[in-house]
Parts: sequence; C-alpha cells; structure tokens
Amino acid sequence: MGLYIILTIPPLLLGLWAQWRVKSAYEKWSRCANARNLTGAQAAAEMLRRENVNDVRIEQVGGTLSDYYDPSAKVLRLSSGVYGAASVAALGIACHEAGHALQHARGYAYLGLRSALVMPAKFGSYLAIPLIMFGMLIGALGLAKLGVIIFGAVVLFQLVTLPVEFDASRRAKAALVNNGVINAPERAGVNEVLDAAAMTYVAAAVAAISQLLYYALILAGNRRR
Ligand SMILES: [Zn+2]
Repeated sequence: MGLYIILTIPPLLLGLWAQWRVKSAYEKWSRCANARNLTGAQAAAEMLRRENVNDVRIEQVGGTLSDYYDPSAKVLRLSSGVYGAASVAALGIACHEAGHALQHARGYAYLGLRSALVMPAKFGSYLAIPLIMFGMLIGALGLAKLGVIIFGAVVLFQLVTLPVEFDASRRAKAALVNNGVINAPERAGVNEVLDAAAMTYVAAAVAAISQLLYYALILAGNRRR
C-alpha cells in the first residue's frame, strides 16, 4: 500500500500541476495580442514556407489545446483559439505543430520511431493491466510478466515522445525569433507556453515509468512468496 501511494500520488500531483501550468500560461498569453497581428495559421504557414515545406495543409479543428500534426494526411490541425487568433500563445502553439511537420519533412528519426510505437503503445495500454491482474489472480506469473513487458511499450512511447516534443518547440522558438515574428517580451510568452506544455509530457513519462515500476515490484514480491 505504501509503495502504491509513493508511486502514484507524486506522479499524479506532477501531472495536475503541469496541466494547470499549461492552462494558465495559455490563458495568460491568449489574452496578449502579438505585435505583428499574425494568426497562428499565418505564422505556421510562414514558418513552413520559409523552410520550403509546401505540401502541408493547415486546417481548423474543434476544442481547446487540441492542436496536432497528422503525418499520414500531412495536415496541421489547429484549434480555433490558435488558428484564427493573433495572440502570443497562438504563435507558439501553431509553430510548435509546424515544427512537427518540419520534423516529418526532414525525416527526423524520433518522429518516425514515435509513429511506429503508436500501435504497440495503444495495444499495451489496453492489454497490459488486465494481463497483470488476471495473471496474478490465477497465479500464472508468466502471464503477469508478459503484461509488464507489454506495458514497456507504453513507457517507451512516452520516452520517445520527449525528444520529439522538445525538438518541435526548439524549432518553433528558433523560427519565431529568426524570422523576426516575435519581439523580446513575446518571446518570454512563447517560452512560457511551450515550456509548460513540455512539462506535461515529462509528467506523463514519469507516470508511465512509476506504473511500470509498481507492477514490476509487485511481481517480484509475489515471486518471493
Ligand atoms: Zn507536439
């Protein structure tokens, strides 16, 4: 029980704190218009054009902070608060997503690895815990061990996500500064939004590792008995 609390509560609190930070940074910098009056869609389009990436479409999608790049369709999907908004937050988020499109165009290795891990991680997240629970319930430790190994795909996916996300933000910050899109105060705002977003991925990775550790330790304890 003590082990369970140690391995679940701190990651949970870290995750909640990271979510809160993203939300508050986004709200703060969404209220702040950027000096060039560029919308997120315009800034992303300009960034891709300057990098000679001309085969990526930019579309609007519902929701808040639901922005993503779809590599299979080569489409940047930006939420309404980013797509048509000329805020500092919109610039950062739109160019972060354009950073993923740029990774794709340049054949950035971790993006390919991450895409390859999407299905195994999805499979792992559905199957691992039932296998572990069922295996331990009926005393089939091999089955439970298999579940822990399968859960490793979830952890691997979260770990590979980190360089992909950090690199996309790095590309966004560099483009916004080098292309003269943002001034110094706006740069601080973009950093605040993107660094807060990066922390949510760190929190997700910590949570996945803790969960893996928990199951592995339980299984090891079970074997000793
Ligand atoms: Zn991203």
